[in-house]
Amino acid sequence: MLQFNRGSEQEGLGSHPLAGKKIYIPPMAYGSGRAFAAGFRALGVDADITPPSDHRTKELGARYTSGDECYPAKVTVGDFMRVLQTPGVDPSKIVLFMPTADGPCRFGQYAPYLKGILEANGYSSTQVFSPTSNNGYAGLGSLATPFLRTGWRMLVAADILQKMLLKYRPHERNKGDTDAVFEECLDDLCSTVEKTTYKPAPQLKAVRAVMERCLVRFHSIPAQRDRSVPLIGVVGEIFCRLHTFSNENLVRRLEEYGGEAWISDLTEWIWYTNAEQFRKLKLKRNLFSLEGIAAWVRNKVQRRDEHVILEPFKDEIVGYEEPSTREVLDAARPYLPQDGALGEMVLNVGKAICLARRGVDGIIDISPFTCMNGIICEAIYPKVSRDLGGLPIRTFYFDGTQTDLDRDLGVYMELARTYMRRKKHARVYPKHPA
Ligand code: SF4
Repeated sequence: MLQFNRGSEQEGLGSHPLAGKKIYIPPMAYGSGRAFAAGFRALGVDADITPPSDHRTKELGARYTSGDECYPAKVTVGDFMRVLQTPGVDPSKIVLFMPTADGPCRFGQYAPYLKGILEANGYSSTQVFSPTSNNGYAGLGSLATPFLRTGWRMLVAADILQKMLLKYRPHERNKGDTDAVFEECLDDLCSTVEKTTYKPAPQLKAVRAVMERCLVRFHSIPAQRDRSVPLIGVVGEIFCRLHTFSNENLVRRLEEYGGEAWISDLTEWIWYTNAEQFRKLKLKRNLFSLEGIAAWVRNKVQRRDEHVILEPFKDEIVGYEEPSTREVLDAARPYLPQDGALGEMVLNVGKAICLARRGVDGIIDISPFTCMNGIICEAIYPKVSRDLGGLPIRTFYFDGTQTDLDRDLGVYMELARTYMRRKKHARVYPKHPA
C-alpha cells in the first residue's frame, strides 16, 4: 500500500492520481535513475527504474516503433513494453515516466508518441507521466514542490557519485572495488532518503551526511594514479551518452583501453534549461514577471542545495570542475549562433572546448545514428580540433546494430596519447587518488 509514513506525511496518497500505481523510470544514467526513483518513494509514491535493457528491449522497441524514431525512443519504448508484458502486471496500475522538453529536436515528441503507441496496442489504461514547468507539473498535484526539491537533490548526489566512480575506477588496484563502493553509496543514498522526511531542511542534512560517508568510502579504495592515463571528455546526446546499454558500454571499454572518462552529467541539462528560460524571459521583456521571479527563486534554491551536497567533494573535484552554462555557451559562440542553435549541439561543442581548456587529451561524442545534434556537431568538430592544436575529437554513432567499437577505440586512444604529449593546456591533478 502506498503510504506516507512520516510526520504530516502520515495521510497517505489518498485520492492522489498516483495512489495505487507504480511509476517506471527509464534510467538514462543508472545511478541517477535509481536515485530519482528513491526520491519518488520518499514522497510515498511507488517507483522503480525499468529493468536492465537486453536483447528483448531491441526486439520490442523495433516491434512497437516505425523505424523513423531516434534510437533512445526505440530503447525506451522497448523497456517500457517489457514492463507491461511482464506476467502478472496490471497495465492500469503502471505509470511510465517520460520527461519532455521544448527544443529543436524530436525529444519533445516522445511523450505524445508513447501515448499513441500505448493506445494503438491495447494499453490505453497505462498513464504516461511527463511533468514539466510548461504543464504546471501536471499529475503531481500537492507533491509538485517536494518532488522538484527531492528530485533535484537526488540528481545532484547521483551525478557526483558517478563522477567519483569514473575518477577512481581507472586507477584502482583491485578490479571491482570502485564499482562496489559506488553501489554501496547508491544504496545508502536511496535508503536514507526513503527513511527521512521530505521536509527540506532535515532531508538536505541527511543527503549531506550520506555524501560525507560516501567520500570516506571512495578514499578507502586502494588506488594509485597513473599520470600516463589519458583523460577523455565524453559529450553527446544525453540519453545515448549516459545509457550504457545504448552506447555499448563505451566508457568501460575506454577504460579497458587505458583511458579515464570525464562524462557530461545529467544536471548539466537542467542548468542549461534554466539558462534558456531566463534567455526567453529576457527576450520577451518578462524577467520581472511572476514567472521570472519564480524561476529566479528556483535557480537560487537549486544552487544552494547543490552547494551543500557537493561541498564535501570540493578537494575531489580539483581539476574536474564543471564549467558553468555561461562558460559553455560562450565557448560555443564562435562556432554556432547562440540564439539560433539550441540544445545539445551548443552544449556539446561548448563543453568540448571547456574540457580541452581543463587539459583533457581527447573528446568523444556519443550520438544516436541520425541525431541531428550529433550530425551538426560532427560537421563543426574538425574546426574546433584545429583551433585546439589537433585535439582528437571523434563521434561514435549508435543505433543498436553491430559496430567495431574495439577497433575504433584502439585507434582513437593512440591519437589521444600522441596529443597528450604536445597539448597546450596542462591538467591540474587532485589529491586523490594520489
Ligand atoms: S537529441 Fe537527437 S536522438 Fe535525442 S531526441 Fe533529439 S534528435 Fe533524437
